[in-house]
Formats: sequence, C-alpha cells, structure tokens
Amino acid sequence: MTDTHNLYQLLPDDLAKWLVEHEHSAAQTRGVMAWAYKKQAPPLFPRLLEDLAKLPRTLPAIIERHLSTDGTQKILFALGDGQRVESVILNYHRKLTVCLSTQVGCAMGCTFCRTGEAGLGRNLEAHEIVGMYLILRKQIWQETSLQAPCPNIVFMGQGEPLHNFEEVKRALEILTHPWALDLGPRQITLSTVGYLPGLTRFRELPRVNLAFSLHSPFEQERRQLIPVEARFPLSEIKQALKTMPLLPRQFITLEYLILKDVNHSERHAQALADWSQDLKSIINLIPYNPVAGFLFQRPGEETVDQFKKSLVKRGVRVMERVARGSDIAAACGQLAGARSSCT
Ligand code: SAH
Ligand code: SF4
Repeated sequence: MTDTHNLYQLLPDDLAKWLVEHEHSAAQTRGVMAWAYKKQAPPLFPRLLEDLAKLPRTLPAIIERHLSTDGTQKILFALGDGQRVESVILNYHRKLTVCLSTQVGCAMGCTFCRTGEAGLGRNLEAHEIVGMYLILRKQIWQETSLQAPCPNIVFMGQGEPLHNFEEVKRALEILTHPWALDLGPRQITLSTVGYLPGLTRFRELPRVNLAFSLHSPFEQERRQLIPVEARFPLSEIKQALKTMPLLPRQFITLEYLILKDVNHSERHAQALADWSQDLKSIINLIPYNPVAGFLFQRPGEETVDQFKKSLVKRGVRVMERVARGSDIAAACGQLAGARSSCT
C-alpha cells in the first residue's frame, strides 16, 4: 500500500499493513480508524501523526446544493479529477436516507433514465463513495439540532453498483465495519438492473438488502427498456435471485417502474405475479419520473392504484414509492451529475 492511496479506502488489514510498512505498530490500527471515522482523539505518537498527515484523505467537495419543497436535498459533488456526481438526502417520515452514486454516468443505457443517456464516465473509487457518505452525514448532523442517527443508504443514484463490483464491495465493507462506519447491513439497500456477473457474486458482499429493477415481466419488452436484458435475460436473473441468501425477515425488492400505457395492463399484472411467486420478494411500484426529452410519460394516480389492486388481488405483496425531489430533478432516474443552468 503506497501513500498515493486514500485513508478512506483502507480496511483494517490494509491500514495495519500501511502502519507496519511505515514502521509503526499494527496495534495502532483500531485507534487510527476511530480517529478517522468516529472523530476520536488522534493517536498520541508524533511520528505516526506526521506519517498520517502524508496519507491522502481528501473527500469529494460539495459544489451545489438544492433543496426541494418536500425537504429532499440534491447535492452535487466534484471529485478529485473534476468529474461530478450527485447524491440525494431523502427524508421519509423523519427517517433520513442518503441515495449514493457508484459511477459517473452508467453503461447500461436504460431508455427511460437520464443517467444512462451519456454512457459511463468512470467508476467511483471506494473512498469517493465512503467520502460522500461522510460528508452527507456531517451535513445532516449540522442541520439537526439533535444528533440524528446515522442515515440509511440506498445505492440508487447514478450508476450500476454491480458493474463496479470491487469498489462497491470495498465501500460496503468500510461502511459496515465496526471499526469504521459500523452501519448495520440492513441499513443499506443496493439496487441493480440485474448485471449478472455482479449479481452472481452478491453473496461476497455484506448482507445488505437487494433491490432488482424489473420493470417488465416480459423479456422482449424489458429489452426495449433495458438493453442489457439481451445479455442477461430475466430467466437467468431469476435463477440468481432464487439462490440469494436472505436473512429471516429480509425480502428482495422488485422495483417496477410504471410507464404510462406501456407496462401496467392486466396481462402485466398476471405475468408479474407469476414471475415473482417463487421469490421471497416485495414489489415496489415506482411511477415514472419524467425526464425532459424522453418520450415516456408518468401514469396518473388512478392508473397506479388500479395496477396495485390488480397485483394485490393476485396475492402479491406491493408497496408504492413516493417520488421525492422531482421539483429539483432529484427523483430516481433524474440524476445527471450536471451543474444546474441557474448557477
Ligand atoms: N442502476 C441501478 C441503480 C440506480 S437507478 C438500477 O438501475 O437499479 C435506481 C432506480 O431508479 C432503478 O430502479 C431505476 O430503474 C429507477 N429509475 C431510473 N429512471 C427513472 C425514472 N425516470 N423514473 C423513476 N425511476 C427511475
Ligand atoms: Fe444505469 Fe440504473 Fe439508469 Fe439503467 S436505470 S441507466 S442501470 S442508473
């Protein structure tokens, strides 16, 4: 491990190695982690402090903040190389959740998603993902008079997390390690389009919640919406989901985007009920958030209700996602990582 690495990408074993390489005791590892993540006192040894000062620990910088009328905040970060990426702070019933990105852009090219429009810029590194969380947590703590509990995380921002497997894995390990951020894996949800090379390795990750973006139970139709369906078809994804290790009260969330006049017929409801019946799952209906220049339309409330009823009567467990932050383009699928035109 060289000094070009960032402190916030080091797991305890890496840090112990770095300490030994710099002629310090590996026994300092826990104390250094507590100083980095829990703001405890710095180590007392002057030479260690001097060496630590040389270990880069830059974090992404906030360059813009937008506040929605519903309390959602969209935050634009600049990364070390000038790339930009967005995160969102969501406030559902006073429970705070941060929506993190894992890539600059996305390679999956879904036809309804703003992020996929420009393709993949680059993968985020673990320290950038962890860094965004640290900054958002600080921001939340500054804004709440009481120290709020650590916010939950959803990996539903820009990018396909399982297409950046190694860095997302490292970030999850740091986020959940008791010596680092110590989040419960159940506080974290990772959403995937079904990128199979990553999905089949999901069990290598801490036991976080899994959400799968289904959006159509028909392979042909899904391919029109999600081009990677051609490489990783629903039938194969289903096999991977069926063998997913789940904790006793853990369910797979099946995200289902409702696109007006596209995927909410009785035929869809039946096929969706059939597709999900042998999975320990819950369907999350997401009314489409309009994206300028895209042809899809948001369904009316009645349409969503009707579809929900069609599923419920078939015995499917369903919930509905309330759109947050659409007035500041912070809702799902609206993130582009671009500066707003008003600044
Ligand atoms: N790449 C991952 C995670 C990021 S997208 C994935 O696709 O699952 C997070 C969620 O937002 C996905 O379910 C995605 O389908 C959904 N989404 C994308 N564009 C949307 C839009 N315009 N309106 C509503 N949801 C959208
Ligand atoms: Fe990528 Fe997810 Fe958007 Fe598809 S929906 S382009 S996978 S971020």
